[in-house]
Amino acid sequence: MKLLVVGSVAYDAIETPFGKTDKILGGAGTYISLAASYAGAQPQVVSVVGGDFEKENITLLENHNIDVKGIQIKKEEKTFFWSGKYHNDMNSRDTLVTELNSLGTFNPIVPDAYKNTEYLILGNLSPVVQRQVIEQMTTRPRLIIMDTMNFWMDIMLDELKNTIAMVDVISVNDEEARQLSGEYSLIKAAKAIRKMGPNIVIIKKGEHGALLFDETQVFYAPALPLEEVFDPTGAGDTFAGGFAGYLAKSGDISFANMKNAVIFGSALASFCVEKFGTERLQNLTKEEIYDRVLRFVDLVNFDYKVH
Ligand code: AMP
Repeated sequence: MKLLVVGSVAYDAIETPFGKTDKILGGAGTYISLAASYAGAQPQVVSVVGGDFEKENITLLENHNIDVKGIQIKKEEKTFFWSGKYHNDMNSRDTLVTELNSLGTFNPIVPDAYKNTEYLILGNLSPVVQRQVIEQMTTRPRLIIMDTMNFWMDIMLDELKNTIAMVDVISVNDEEARQLSGEYSLIKAAKAIRKMGPNIVIIKKGEHGALLFDETQVFYAPALPLEEVFDPTGAGDTFAGGFAGYLAKSGDISFANMKNAVIFGSALASFCVEKFGTERLQNLTKEEIYDRVLRFVDLVNFDYKVH
């Protein structure tokens, strides 16, 4: 039921063809926790922010039943800041600024009360930090999920591989899966990544959905075709948070239930992109989430008749 989340809690400034924001709440840990909270899981976040982090943002997390005891506040430093600008097609973006600030020297400290948590999700952070968290757990979690990105493949591949070997589920996008495995075919890529350790590989394909692989099975979840994508920031993290939260809440980590978890994560990601930053994830109702899950079911449901 409880889900330990490790990830950045940040300020982001985002520019899309629809407008731009000043510093707003962001960070992988934030998106993951908010998404997981809608599954009814109880996220416990381990992260770090600076003295500039507004109390109202902490309150926002707490109002979603997110335990923030593990968020260190370094008063003398600033919160991690990231800024990105999307191109017209919204599928690609340029990172304009990455100021690590308090995240640069982040030494994750897992509070004692969290050390037996059964479900752990490692948001995109240095693989060394990710491993330090796993090593602090007194009992090996039932399920460890990790997200990562090409940045870590470029600069610390060996460390990354060490961490990958310790997890059960890895979530990467298609480009990253190809880079990590050296295989162009995503089927071959998933096989190669499974050999590195994780039993389950998730390959995200942005507006084209996501693939879930175990040793013998593949499941495909589309992304919901939306009339307007306003801001894709955090969609991958939201997907992962929804996936992890669903599994933690249900306690069922079978492949069949992971399919539901992928759909739940995809539904939440479809909300995430409708507004800037975390705005759309701040006030979702159970009904609207369920309605959206049903739209996914309709999207892929058909009766095939043999004539
Ligand atoms: P995504 O759109 O899924 O790539 O996630 C975007 C979020 O990741 C933003 O809210 C950023 O604050 C956060 N982010 C970007 N770069 C990093 C990084 N190097 N380490 C940790 N978090 C990051």
